[in-house]
Amino acid sequence: MRIVLPALAALALTFASTPASAAPSDVNDAVAAMLHERAAGIAAAQRDQAQVNVRRQTGRWAFGTAVITAPASEGAVPTGWLFLAQKSAGTWKVAFEGDTAFAAMASGSPVLSAPEQGLLAESGRPAPSQANGDYRTGMRLPFAVGQSWWMGGGPHGWAGSNTPWSSIDLSGGDGRVLAARAGLAYTMCGNGRGWIRVIHDRGYSTDYYHLFNNIAANGLSVGEGTFLGNIGTDVSCGGSASGAHVHFALRQNSAYVGIANHNLGKWVLQNGGAAYQGSALHGSARVNVGGSLYNYGALGFTQGIIDANGGGTVNKRSGPGTGYGVVGSVADGVTVTVSCSANGTTHTGRWGTTSLWNRLSDGTWVSDAFMWTGVNSALNGFC
Ligand SMILES: [Zn+2]
Repeated sequence: MRIVLPALAALALTFASTPASAAPSDVNDAVAAMLHERAAGIAAAQRDQAQVNVRRQTGRWAFGTAVITAPASEGAVPTGWLFLAQKSAGTWKVAFEGDTAFAAMASGSPVLSAPEQGLLAESGRPAPSQANGDYRTGMRLPFAVGQSWWMGGGPHGWAGSNTPWSSIDLSGGDGRVLAARAGLAYTMCGNGRGWIRVIHDRGYSTDYYHLFNNIAANGLSVGEGTFLGNIGTDVSCGGSASGAHVHFALRQNSAYVGIANHNLGKWVLQNGGAAYQGSALHGSARVNVGGSLYNYGALGFTQGIIDANGGGTVNKRSGPGTGYGVVGSVADGVTVTVSCSANGTTHTGRWGTTSLWNRLSDGTWVSDAFMWTGVNSALNGFC
């Protein structure tokens, strides 16, 4: 539900105008004042208006989205946050996702559902170093498993050429954009169109922009694969889109993070030499920007993808090292499930040198050097 307040018309403030009063007794003014502060850290070419969208208000609490809309120009995109506001002694205290206060306010806030309180407290905490060495996402590509979509843009910034390169552009197939992983969905723009953010577990969230015919979502629980909208050219919060696509971005702990080296739909994204270039790897199979990515579905947290670093097969052995006999082989690109790991002989593959060996669910062993798992340590504990 969107609560339209009488002052709404005053909420779309251009940055050329005088900022809102700094003595906010109205929640809209308080959030707008915060947006004006944040705008200072955003390039002028990316700022158009401060948009405050109060989605829920109960007594002394308010919750919604705060957006700095973008000019209608190529390479411009909006910046947005979920916000929480709490009134005390006549003034509103406001916190955006990623602010230290946000996680604390989310815990137990009556304006949030119980699942939201937990998830927003987790995802809303300030960002640590990227990924902390763990690149597993548990996500599929944001469309139907079994379809192949065109990667029209490789890793690039949420706003185009800015860093981190959090985003990719996808189109094709049946055009239906689906949640990459389960979570809670929110429409970000004031009119509810175009831009959806899904807050996932483990601090991750994903953004989907330029959607057409998207769902209404204000904390809606979605599963992996839930329909979010069709690819489109919507620019409700600004920017431009020359052809129908989804501008898909990865976030962690309330900030855009480099999408490279993360796995989506069993593809590991790779940066190119410039924004919008790059490729994706499935085992040794590489698809460059402009190619099609087949959606294999989400890789499980105890699964790996065999990467023979050049194709072919990798030997499976009866123990963790080349001193043990060969008991079979597994082909490049195959998904395997790891039951536990041990140290053995040292090998070098695409992703580095390691003495780690992984015992597969069939009891055989494969060197971790020839497997993408998303972590450098034991994926599922030591045997
Ligand atoms: Zn894009």
